[in-house]
Amino acid sequence: MVQSEKEKVVQLERQLHVLNEVARTITYPLKLPEMLNRVMDTIIGVIEPAEVGLVMLWDQSAGLFRAEAAFGYDKEVIKQFGLRAGESITGKVFDGGKAVLLSEAEVAHAMADIRPGNYSILERSLGRTPLPLSTLAVPIFAQEQKFGVLVLETIKGPALFSPEDLPFVQSLADLLALAIDRMRLQAKSDIKREIKEVERLRAEALATLSHELRMPLTAIKGYTTALLMEEIQWSEEKVDQFLRMIDSESDNMQSMIKDILDSSLVDVGQLKLEPQPVRVQYIAREVVDEILRYTQIHHFIIDFPANFPIIDADPRWIKQVFRNILENAVKYSPEGGLIVIKGQIRRDDIVIKVADQGVGISPEDLIPLFEKFYRVKSAEGFHISGTGLGLPVARSIVEAHGGRIWVESQEGEGTTLYFSMPYVLEARDEDNRNDVIQGNFAMKQRSNLGHESLQSDNL
Ligand code: ATP
Ligand code: MG
Repeated sequence: MVQSEKEKVVQLERQLHVLNEVARTITYPLKLPEMLNRVMDTIIGVIEPAEVGLVMLWDQSAGLFRAEAAFGYDKEVIKQFGLRAGESITGKVFDGGKAVLLSEAEVAHAMADIRPGNYSILERSLGRTPLPLSTLAVPIFAQEQKFGVLVLETIKGPALFSPEDLPFVQSLADLLALAIDRMRLQAKSDIKREIKEVERLRAEALATLSHELRMPLTAIKGYTTALLMEEIQWSEEKVDQFLRMIDSESDNMQSMIKDILDSSLVDVGQLKLEPQPVRVQYIAREVVDEILRYTQIHHFIIDFPANFPIIDADPRWIKQVFRNILENAVKYSPEGGLIVIKGQIRRDDIVIKVADQGVGISPEDLIPLFEKFYRVKSAEGFHISGTGLGLPVARSIVEAHGGRIWVESQEGEGTTLYFSMPYVLEARDEDNRNDVIQGNFAMKQRSNLGHESLQSDNL
């Protein structure tokens, strides 16, 4: 009797140790299956009759119990195991909500309704007959929540479970239930938080956008109201000045609205390419001509080698890329300066380089530069209007052509934007069959290029 008292104390101490160990494991920042597997390892290591075990959790979407953790089973094979509601020991303990200790005969009875597929999965993953000598199965429930069943089994013996094991294993299952409950709540609140964050960013972006659009509008409204004042006779010179301001602010608005529209086209996957043979240097020239209408302090050099190839691209969209990059080069060089557009030929693609002598970009602002609505914070008392959509749109267009876009910059010295384009547009899906046919056409044309050049075209 003394001996058995001693044994009892040892056993209680061991159980306390396991409870502590499990309580600690469930506080680690682990994923659910990893946490359950660790707990399972601890349990099996301590409870002698427990030779193999499963944590079966109810998967609502599949309508099945799945083995979320396992000990003694082949982990790959047991992944295919799926018990229906009420099926086998797990199904019954889940419905009954009570811990059970089953003898060999009771196990066979409780498992009689297991579907043959599941039986053979158990057999394969255990490497032997899956009928155990005894089974201890306890529900994993937390208050109103029913998660699944913890199943421990004796396969060989000789040690068998005793009824004293039941409350202890139930305490372990209760701890597991708490951990699962907490993790699922956490996952739910993470999703909620993410949705909130996206909403917050969207609201913020919208506020910035409205503000940016309102600025030129306010200026236009101000000049128009002034011009319409009957009591004031404006000099011809003043009228001309006001009209020029209105003109330039309208251009500003127009360009921002174009960016917003382009960006929403990209968002809804409407960036459809109609490729044709394109001389990139001509497009660069056209955009430079557009820009020269509104700046006198910027000078351009367009430098393309004489043998620069004709590429296969959508000229409308390539023009937009040049516009977005060159407008930035001008806008962010408020003191003016030289802007160099250079074409380079590589083995598989061409690279266009646009270098300015503007304000430059700090290293930390370079990383998010191509993200929608990202704008570098302006210095105090110095504002350059924009929506933060120009570069993301340029990137989407370049990438749709199979190219890449990147940037190098030195704060206070200038910025260089690069983008590459393959010679021929690759087919990306069925819709683009036509593009490919036209693409081949461009490829053939490449060998007999004209040799007109815009080399060192100093404008
Ligand atoms: P939008 O082009 O839509 O009118 P935006 O010019 O602000 O607005 P992007 O063209 O996407 O938007 O550029 C994002 C940010 O990158 C800009 O706000 C600017 O801070 C910085 N940036 C872009 N190009 C240059 C450049 N050449 N020099 C310095 N900063 C630049
Ligand atoms: Mg821009």
